[in-house]
Formats: sequence, structure tokens, C-alpha cells
Amino acid sequence: MKFGKVLQHEIEDIPSEWRPFLIQYKTHKKCILKIVQELNEIGMSHDILKEMFKAAEGYKLEYTFASDKAHVRPCIKLDLDDCEHISKSQLSTFTQLAGKSHASFSKYDNCSVSTLSSTLSDDSETSATSNGFLFDDHHSEQVTDNEEVVVLMEKFLKKLPMTLCIELESDGEFFDILFEEISQLNRLQQKNQEQFCDRLEKLRPLLIDATSPYKADMYVWREILQLYTQAEIFFGNIETDRKARSYEVSQEQFDRFVEELNKHRLQKKLRNPSSKIAFEEFIKLNRELVAMKHFQFMNQVAMSKILKKHDKKTCLSASSNFQKLTENAPYLNDEITTFLHNALIERFTSTILLIEDYLCPICISIHWKPVRLRCRHVFCIRCLVKAEREGMKDCPICRAKNAIKYADSDNIDTSLMNLLKLYFPREVKQKQTDNEREKAIEDMEILTGRRYDQCAMM
Ligand SMILES: [Zn+2]
Ligand SMILES: [Zn+2]
Repeated sequence: MKFGKVLQHEIEDIPSEWRPFLIQYKTHKKCILKIVQELNEIGMSHDILKEMFKAAEGYKLEYTFASDKAHVRPCIKLDLDDCEHISKSQLSTFTQLAGKSHASFSKYDNCSVSTLSSTLSDDSETSATSNGFLFDDHHSEQVTDNEEVVVLMEKFLKKLPMTLCIELESDGEFFDILFEEISQLNRLQQKNQEQFCDRLEKLRPLLIDATSPYKADMYVWREILQLYTQAEIFFGNIETDRKARSYEVSQEQFDRFVEELNKHRLQKKLRNPSSKIAFEEFIKLNRELVAMKHFQFMNQVAMSKILKKHDKKTCLSASSNFQKLTENAPYLNDEITTFLHNALIERFTSTILLIEDYLCPICISIHWKPVRLRCRHVFCIRCLVKAEREGMKDCPICRAKNAIKYADSDNIDTSLMNLLKLYFPREVKQKQTDNEREKAIEDMEILTGRRYDQCAMM
């Protein structure tokens, strides 16, 4: 399928209010035809340019952009730095080019055209005006004969290195349209970002109520968040893969996440009315992030295809030049979706406490009862008792000297203990049962002098 058609087809997945902002691939295709026409008119057809871009001795041809914030002014710059090596026929081509285009000559040190003219006049007692390039307004004597111009230029070139800039009008229009489209996209994105953040802000009180330990849904929310993290919709979770996902992967992973939610019937398990609203908004916000990624992807592809087409038809290298100009445009990189995704995650993780943050580093289960050593590291009391019994004195994490040896009942972190009891009642209960069982085994071993395994106790 042709790319224009693919775009038309895919735009259906994008919210209708964003659609007018899609980079207009078809319009740009027409602009490219105009550029080609202009280049042909000034004698710079694709094949001629191709030849000229091959670095030749004595001159360098370059396609460059002069740009301010609003406009890009592309031009072909010809540096004549060693005129001894430029052949007469080559010089004649350059002269013709200068004549046909809106070219201007300038010295390297930026001195004005009239200065060049006077330099020339000193030597030749005449100044030159060809169709397009003018050395001096005051000397109006026209040199229409091409041969004469060549001779004149040769004389001049022997004195000074110089630069010829050929401005490309249609090419400028092409980039102006593209630039304007990108700035409109950025404005749209700015608006989307503000709305997204407003919605997150409104979600805050709902979520606090929905996930409260005094309400019924705290554990369901924890499951939802766990599945969400595992789904790795927008980013990888593991150390070796934290890269942003492509749009396609994000879409796939999001669909899989929704499937998992349904499989575990988690939405149905939510009982609190705030939970139901918060859940729907959570899904909507994620769906919008996926759509944003999709739209961004379509624009990136459209832009890269247009620039490639431009380069292929004209032999001018816009792809690399223009991408350098726009690499900081937030809409064309992942900056905004990354920011919004992080804001979304932050909103949820700051409200829903996760067990991963309350694990004892020795037994990898909830650190109940929590003992905070003087180095600030926290372990469960059982693990520290066992460690001390085995003769361990220092902190197992940071090796703080005698941190275990000098720990006593004051080291029990009571506020953390209350928090664990409130937010992780099931885990705390399980840990207490496990501890009691372990203690019973130990007592039995002391009593009988024999080792018991867990099975024997069951
Ligand atoms: Zn432990
Ligand atoms: Zn420590």
C-alpha cells in the first residue's frame, strides 16, 4: 500500500481533534515537484547536482540551511577556494548558474558585494552585472557575453577566494510549511500535556480514597499495579532493558494488560465507587498515551518519508540537515510521552504501597518485625536473631561495625511496624505464622536434640 493510503487508513485510530495536525504528506509531495522544477530552471538538475557534489578540486559545493526560529532558508553554497584548479568549462557552468539563480557572491570575510566590485574595478576598470549577480549598482555597464564574464571572474578569482550562495525559493517554502506544521504539533502537544496533568491531579483524591487501607480495594489495586508494571507497556523494567517501547510494542502490551485484567476479573472485584471511576480513568489515560505514541510515530514516519523523497528527487540532503534543526522539538522525540508516563506511574506508586519496598534483604519477605540498625538498614527481627546466633556482628549490607551486636529493643521501628500492619495485614499475618512455626521447630530440636525438617512438623 502506498504511504499516503497507509496514513489515511491509520488516522482512523487517532482522536479526531488531532487529525488536522498530521504532517501533510500529500501537500509536501506537490512542493517537491516545484523544487525540482526550480532546480531544473536554474540548470541544477538532479544529475548535474550529483556530479557537482562529488568533491572536485578547487571548489566545494554544499547544501546548507540558514535558519532563524520561524524560517529555514536553504541554499547551495559554492566555495571556490583554489581557482588554479577549476577548469574553464567548470567556471563557465558556475557563471551560468549564478546568472540564472538568485545568487549572491561574497568574500569569506563577509565584505560586501560592492567591495568585491571595487576590487574588481581596480583591476579591470569595469564591473560586471550578469542576469542574476550584481557586483555594484553604481557601475551599470552590463557584461552580457558569457565568455567575458568568465574572463572577468578568472581575473577576480585569482585575487580572492569566494563563496557563491544560490538561494532556493521553492525549497524555502517547502521547509516553511514543514516548520509551521511542527510548531503546530508542538502547540497541540503542549495542550495535551496540560490536560493530561490536570486529569492526573483530579485523580489524586479519588485514588487516595480508592486505595485506602480502611476500604475494601487496597489489595485489588495492588494486583492491578503489579500487572501494569509487569506489562512493560511503555518501558522495559529490567536493568538491561529500560528503553522506551515503540508504538507497536506499546499497543500490543497494553492490549495484553487489558486481557490480563479481564482474566483476573480485577475490575469486577473493585467495590468502592471511587475505585470504579479511578480505574476507568487509569485505563483511559493509558489508552491516550498509546494514541499519543501512535500519532507521534505517524508524524515521524511522514516527515522522514517526505525528506527522503525530497532528497531522492533533488539530490539535496535535507534529511540530515533538517533533522538536526528539529531534534529538540519535543513532539518528534519521546520526551513528552516519557514525562507523562512517569507522572502517571508516580501518581499511582505514591498512593499504592508495594510490598517490594518493604522486604527484608535476607529472607526476601516482609521485614516484620522491622529492626532498624544504626546504619539505617532494616531487617526482620528473626533474620537478625539468627544472624547474631551465627556470630555475625556487622550490618550484612553496609558492613557497619557491630551494628547487629549493639541492636536492642530500641531498634525496633514501631512507626514502620504500624504502617506494615495497616497496609500489609495479610503479609504480616503470614510472616507471624511462619515465624511461630520456625520457633516451634527450634524448640522441638532443643527438646529432642534431633533436627526436624519442615515436613516433619506439618
Ligand atoms: Zn528477614
Ligand atoms: Zn547497614
